[in-house]
Amino acid sequence: DAFIVKVSAAKALNAFIVETPEHALEAAKAADEAVAAGETLKPLAGVPIGMKDLFATKGVQTTAASHILEGFKPVYESTVSAKLWDAGAGMLGKLNLDQFAMGSSNETSYFGNVVSPWRRGANGIGARDNAPLAPGGSSGGSSAAIAARIVPGATGTDTGGSIRQPAAFTGISGIKPTYGRCSRWGVVAFASSLDQAGPMARSVQDCAILLENMAGFDPKDSTSLQLPVPDWETALSGDLRGKKVGIPAEYRLDGMSNEIAALWQQGIDWLKDAGAEIIDVSLPHTKYALPAYYIIAPAEASSNLARYDGVRYGLRDLPEGANLQDMYAATRAAGFGEEVKRRILIGTYVLSAGFYDAYYTQAQKVRTLIAQDFENAFSICDLLLTPTAPSAAFALGENADPLAMYMNDVFTVPASLAGLPAMSVPGGIDKAGLPLGLQIIGKPLDEQGVLNAGLAIE
Ligand code: GLN
Repeated sequence: DAFIVKVSAAKALNAFIVETPEHALEAAKAADEAVAAGETLKPLAGVPIGMKDLFATKGVQTTAASHILEGFKPVYESTVSAKLWDAGAGMLGKLNLDQFAMGSSNETSYFGNVVSPWRRGANGIGARDNAPLAPGGSSGGSSAAIAARIVPGATGTDTGGSIRQPAAFTGISGIKPTYGRCSRWGVVAFASSLDQAGPMARSVQDCAILLENMAGFDPKDSTSLQLPVPDWETALSGDLRGKKVGIPAEYRLDGMSNEIAALWQQGIDWLKDAGAEIIDVSLPHTKYALPAYYIIAPAEASSNLARYDGVRYGLRDLPEGANLQDMYAATRAAGFGEEVKRRILIGTYVLSAGFYDAYYTQAQKVRTLIAQDFENAFSICDLLLTPTAPSAAFALGENADPLAMYMNDVFTVPASLAGLPAMSVPGGIDKAGLPLGLQIIGKPLDEQGVLNAGLAIE
């Protein structure tokens, strides 16, 4: 009940698109009954969580924060959400996000931006003091709701950083597991070769518990990994003795702020204290990751978003006397936001016959080189430590230029291209008192190592 009161009291953050108190209450009731009957409790019995509105939830509006899906109520449940309900959790509501998960600030949502519960402190920087801040994106409803203590945990999805960057901006933790750990079935597709679901929560331990109840093989997703889900929580330890942690030189960008450099050094010291050996490593193709990502992700998006045609889901705009083509055009013009249209145009362009080799094929080659960089680094170390984002949260409206916005993903995109598990944990604050995140990247399937290093920093 307390959480349901909080959800409706926190309207100013605009973190929820739909509230579903009845769903959470039902889970709580089931947990109470299990206690009364002396039954063994399910792992998440009665825990109320938020669900990013990219996960299909049966009978509950699922929009991807887009006008084109407004009113769409799926007749099926995503595998990840179904697993969470099976584990006893309940849903407080569907959380706001960047439209189709495209963005880094939650400002592309059709339902309005989410506001971070954080504010710059009194000693912050001049005129922008107290300006409302971005919660990060695309999982900005999830990060804001957790940081504001409205929900104890939430689902996120991460295509190029959408779990890690919002976690960093709001002082919480979030993990993107290895590509294929969590089923993509029932998750609205953005860029299918990159999309991964994962948990966001206040602690590393909560992330481990949630991930255990989200992951697992699913025959309905052809890229799902046919592997057992380890008991990450039980094996959680902040002891890094015998582990080598690599510090990739190429992440030390020209113009990196002193605060981010100091944060990184602090993270290195903490991992040393936990017993890790720190070594320098090189990921030479890092600087090509962002351009490759912003070709591959829009290319896949332009293909995935072809299904929103006014026939099958949500919005239909059928002008007087219109033919089928007119209806497609009118529906898509009215239904997609500006950033989504930009991605569709970029994607269509890089996949077009004349430019395919120059852009798309080239980007795929770069992707392979980036994956090889990581493989080489992991032949001499177990984990990598980097900052999560180049700065603390920016003010809403501050990053109006799309390219400036894309730059935010510079540290998160490489691990996505390589399909590696990666986590952001709170690492410190900047001079305005805003949270900063540290990123740990692991070998394929080494969520345990990532979580353990996260715990050592936490
Ligand atoms: N900010 C990145 C983008 O806009 C990543 C988004 C995501 O991970 N879903 O594509």
